[in-house]
Amino acid sequence: MPQPGGWRGDPVWLAEVLRAEGLDVVEFPGWRNRGHGDFKDIRGVMVHHTGSDTASAESIARGRPDLAGPLSQLHIARDGTVTVVAAGVAWHAGVGMYPWLPANMGNWHTIGIECANSGTSPTAPHRRNWPDAQYAALIGCCAAICRRLGVPATRTIGHKEYAGRAQGKWDPGGIDMDRLRRDVAARIGSVGGGPRPRPTVPVGEYAEVLLYRGSRGPQVAELQRRLKHAYAAYAGDLRIDGVYGPDTEAAVREFQRRTAGLKVDGVVGPATAAALRLRLVDPDPDAG
Ligand SMILES: [Zn+2]
Repeated sequence: MPQPGGWRGDPVWLAEVLRAEGLDVVEFPGWRNRGHGDFKDIRGVMVHHTGSDTASAESIARGRPDLAGPLSQLHIARDGTVTVVAAGVAWHAGVGMYPWLPANMGNWHTIGIECANSGTSPTAPHRRNWPDAQYAALIGCCAAICRRLGVPATRTIGHKEYAGRAQGKWDPGGIDMDRLRRDVAARIGSVGGGPRPRPTVPVGEYAEVLLYRGSRGPQVAELQRRLKHAYAAYAGDLRIDGVYGPDTEAAVREFQRRTAGLKVDGVVGPATAAALRLRLVDPDPDAG
């Protein structure tokens, strides 16, 4: 029963699609061949917490004595690192139901995302104990997958919505699923040629700065020069090549981590540029 949207076969495209979203992606060895058999048509995404802030991607790949891994396709660490663990079916959904899923068949129709998080409690407010980097990576993963499946953000559900009270499932704790879906919808719409959000905070001369993974040019080279020389303790080896790659992003994140008041997102917007005292480069000197 093919539906509009959805995907037939295993999602061997996961690493590529998540990287294209700008996420920090780690490929767990053997992920393409790991799984409990093949998917039916993939219809959406199911979000979980691991139950522990320190649960590793390896624990998701290997599973537990009572439940063989993989326990989900993706693992998101608290620093936002996304590990692709499996392309085949994983034991994450168990028994449950949801309008666009056949009863108890969630494992064969959804991609599971396990986030390293205690969940805090069933009544924790939205994003309690969810670091910015982890929440941002979760939004990015859900958006990238929904976009690839050709389905809307409403196809992102929580284990607690599927397995509900009957199963005693309350994960992901500290996540208001409606708010997550709104954030995913905004992210889906903001990529692929849509208008870029404009900075709303007045930050003087830096209002126009927006550099991120994939950016290129003299302003990126100036950013690298500044990081390399002023923050040599962690950016001393940075290559000044004018390409905003993983190393530049890592250095920016480290700078943000060490600077009070900055969001750790690896993106140089006005606030980060101002904190760096980045020298501004005329983007197009020939334009007069
Ligand atoms: Zn779960």
